[in-house]
Amino acid sequence: MTDAAYQQCINPACNASFSCQESFFKCPKCGDLLDIRYNWDKIAVPKKMSDFAKRWTTRNIPLDYSGVWRFRELLNFCDDKHKVTIGEGQTLLQQNCGLANHLGMKAENLFLQYEGLNPSGSFKDNGMTAAFSHARMIGAKSSACASTGNTSAAVALYAAMCGLKCVVFIGSGRIAFGKLSQAMDYGATTIQIAGDFDDCMRQVQDVCTQMGLYLLNSLNPFRLEGQKTIMFRIIEALNFEVPDWIVVPGGNLGNSSAFGKAFAELKELGLINKTPRLAIINAAGANTLDYLVNTKKLTWNNGNVDMQVVNDLYNDFTAKKFSPHTCASAIEISRPVNLKKCLRALETCNGIVRSVDDDKIKDAKALVGKFGFGCEPASAASVAGLKLLLDEKIISPSDRVACILTGHALKDPNVTVNYHKEKQGPYANPPIEVANDLSKIVQIISA
Ligand SMILES: *Cc1c(COP(=O)(O)O)cnc(C)c1O
Ligand SMILES: [Zn+2]
Repeated sequence: MTDAAYQQCINPACNASFSCQESFFKCPKCGDLLDIRYNWDKIAVPKKMSDFAKRWTTRNIPLDYSGVWRFRELLNFCDDKHKVTIGEGQTLLQQNCGLANHLGMKAENLFLQYEGLNPSGSFKDNGMTAAFSHARMIGAKSSACASTGNTSAAVALYAAMCGLKCVVFIGSGRIAFGKLSQAMDYGATTIQIAGDFDDCMRQVQDVCTQMGLYLLNSLNPFRLEGQKTIMFRIIEALNFEVPDWIVVPGGNLGNSSAFGKAFAELKELGLINKTPRLAIINAAGANTLDYLVNTKKLTWNNGNVDMQVVNDLYNDFTAKKFSPHTCASAIEISRPVNLKKCLRALETCNGIVRSVDDDKIKDAKALVGKFGFGCEPASAASVAGLKLLLDEKIISPSDRVACILTGHALKDPNVTVNYHKEKQGPYANPPIEVANDLSKIVQIISA
């Protein structure tokens, strides 16, 4: 391929490549995942990471204001006129000394990348700005996704902003209320299937194939290009240094795949000289990656992933009618579509995988709230994972760590309210009930 950007199958035995003017969500030759690849010599990539930051001074230009498109040379698949931005990526790397102290880390070494500050309240907007730009570039009229919630919120918002029709598939009873409210408010056709996320994922692929809709799940390789910029912003916020660890919750594994690709490309371009280690945290009730990597020793193996092991597990899930369960609904996924790319990211970043149970997730969520901006349950898996890895002495108190807080604290108020009101953990802070009586109120406040 001689274009500046093209799509390439990740299966080394296939290796087919395709123009970015086409849209498929899987390799049409072999059915494997697709990557976006670049001929870097055709792109005027800045020489240093700090060059991108100069665009802070031209923030009146929408593409310079965007925390995704500010890095546009590193995701150079779309002409400017088709790009769509609604100010995504204005997110903050919060140095959190209070939480660091609580966890026994060096105070200045813990950072929380709060992706809840995005327009629809989750990191998904980083991906949607990229994928919808591609959708516009190829003239798509209708879009669709399966979702545990945040994808549908982000797709519905971007579809509304670009005037595309939009259908979102959600599993019945599996979606947090904040997220469901967004999809409806932004005008998406919301289809609730009697099933879980994995059922929705299968249905949406068939519907997209049959009806020619543009698919926005993280199977979409253009989405992952946008999600790379979360890492670019962390490096920028650390004054162009790479942290020792990135800790991220793992659901469909789009983020972790995108992060690995980001670091591989920055290294190839000479924009960084070290790669951080990646820690991917599953919920115990949806721990496919943890099981495959740690128990089954599954690896990337130069692209020749042992799919027999994976298929055996999935067949076992089917036979047992297994459905994943966790309060962290955004990572309640048992058949992660980006598994292979994630294995590659684990290799790029010398990564590790752990699981944390719901009690630990809820405690970590309460701690993030107590010391910082708060986050939704899935996001807190990163902090619960950090705690575990500090206990295991895999992460050292003197390592610099960035945890990705993937979604906003207000996405799932039910989990938060129940934790505090039902005193589910040591950080519960329930409301105090008191009679409508001044002296009793004063008595309680001064106690
Ligand atoms: C989508 C989502 C995740 C999971 O991310 P993957 O890229 O699918 O692994 C985690 N947290 C939140 C809040 C999400 O919306
Ligand atoms: Zn292929």
